[in-house]
Amino acid sequence: MKAELLTLLIPSTQSFELSSTHHNKTTSEDINMLLSYSNLDKKEYSLLLMKYVDDKTSESTLFDELFDEVCEIFLKREVPKECGMIRKFLNTAIIECCVEKCVVCQGTGYLKTTDSIDKCPHCDGTGEFIYDDHVRSSIMGVKKNYFIKYKKEYESIIEKINAIENSALSKIGDT
Ligand SMILES: [Zn+2]
Repeated sequence: MKAELLTLLIPSTQSFELSSTHHNKTTSEDINMLLSYSNLDKKEYSLLLMKYVDDKTSESTLFDELFDEVCEIFLKREVPKECGMIRKFLNTAIIECCVEKCVVCQGTGYLKTTDSIDKCPHCDGTGEFIYDDHVRSSIMGVKKNYFIKYKKEYESIIEKINAIENSALSKIGDT
């Protein structure tokens, strides 16, 4: 998988973070050079770094880049009245798209207790976390009914993120 080659970008990214407080100018040029080299836009680049390199700082970049578009999705029908809800929907969608490994069994597919080894129910033994409406609403910290009310909007966010990933992978030749 060519996406794994992205780990090669890590040294430049780290030096970017370390020096960013002192040398903003030089380092943003570094990043721009990387972006233009791969022809990825900011969203595509952040998503790849977050998903395949586990670079946590990319998550907030991706979030910021997507937030306005996600607000528009909700504006088409109904904006949640509760404060901060759109942020929670977007955050959960980013997690669902980028965190595939089961966090309960650490991707092993089984859970060990003192006297038995059981298939992990959170990934059904596959090691890949299963996201359902119950899980999504608990990540968001809302009731399942509340989540379901906005499920169409949530699915549109997921589609949007998946489209960014597909586009990014095709640009680096990994489809
Ligand atoms: Zn599991």
